[in-house]
Amino acid sequence: MKITVIGSGVIGLTTAIALQEAGHEVEILTKNLPMETTSAVAGAIWMPFHVEPLEKVNQWSRASYNVFEVMSADASSGVHLVDFLVLDNQHDFPNWTAAMPEGRMRRATASELPTGYEHGFIAEVPMIETPIYLPFLQNKFQDNGGKLTVCEVKNLTEMAAKADWLVNCTGLDAGKLVGDKDVFPIRGQVLRVENQPSVPYLADDEGPNALAYIFPRKDCTVLGGTAQMTIDDESPNEEDTLGILRRCSNLVPALATAVVKSVSVGLRPGRTTIRLEREPATNIIHNYGHGGGGYTVSWGCAFEVVENLRV
Ligand SMILES: Cc1cc2nc3c(=O)[nH]c(=O)nc-3n(C[C@H](O)[C@H](O)[C@H](O)COP(=O)(O)OP(=O)(O)OC[C@H]3O[C@@H](n4cnc5c(N)ncnc54)[C@H](O)[C@@H]3O)c2cc1C
Repeated sequence: MKITVIGSGVIGLTTAIALQEAGHEVEILTKNLPMETTSAVAGAIWMPFHVEPLEKVNQWSRASYNVFEVMSADASSGVHLVDFLVLDNQHDFPNWTAAMPEGRMRRATASELPTGYEHGFIAEVPMIETPIYLPFLQNKFQDNGGKLTVCEVKNLTEMAAKADWLVNCTGLDAGKLVGDKDVFPIRGQVLRVENQPSVPYLADDEGPNALAYIFPRKDCTVLGGTAQMTIDDESPNEEDTLGILRRCSNLVPALATAVVKSVSVGLRPGRTTIRLEREPATNIIHNYGHGGGGYTVSWGCAFEVVENLRV
């Protein structure tokens, strides 16, 4: 079938490739190119964050984990498995860890924890280097014969009339495009600092330095972050920058002197739950509202879009 995907963030690209691999002819229409999207601002690590509903998210996350694990064998994908230290205040593992494959997690020892922390665990998870991964996906889509056109779609129904199916992967903009009041921004600011030796992959999302995360990559180390509900200001904020630097260097003191290369802001597409469904009596499928977990659930959601076309 001929399928039009709207959007070329991680959700649009992944969905388009899954559809191609199921034998469909796919084109992408997109307002912004992949490296200009919210997806390009992300860290990005495999970990569901501000994304619902839990049970489905865990299924989608697990499916994505499996794909990322295979991809990690290919250095050109920008995906690799890393030991990720998650700091927490409790002995129980958080709900999302149910999506982890067996045997990939253990409690951190006292010597692995930053000063002042008593609990944490180390999970082997996919780390996705966005400046490598998004072009990798775009190339894969185009090598599969897909056409990507830059344009803004103003009316989904009109566009859907030109294809067998249309898949809406417009992230935060879906709120306006389809009049969905359940969509809201979750503002995230990140810093890219010069790499330092021996910096761990680490996050504190509920302890004394929350929200702090540290993701070393090839090009830089990403330091985060913020998760400001319903705030849609895309300009970097100095107070946030200083807060991120302070919290991250509380965890890894060597970061106190890190040279900041850039500061970016992305608006995560928050929603009460991800919208992944066929719109009744239309040829439109929605796939948006992935909050702070778009990479984590991307392949699971894309496979479900493919399934939606079969039933
Ligand atoms: C700071 C930060 C850190 C993050 N960290 C992580 C992480 O570690 N792990 C993780 O899993 N997730 C993370 N996320 C979340 C993740 O980035 C998002 O869930 C994901 O990017 C959403 O992807 P998307 O493709 O739906 O949206 P977007 O990337 O916003 O893409 C939307 C696409 O739709 C297009 N579009 C919109 N409207 C139209 C229109 N009318 N016509 C044509 N095209 C249109 C846009 O141009 C764009 O191409 C993070 C996000 C931020 C901001």
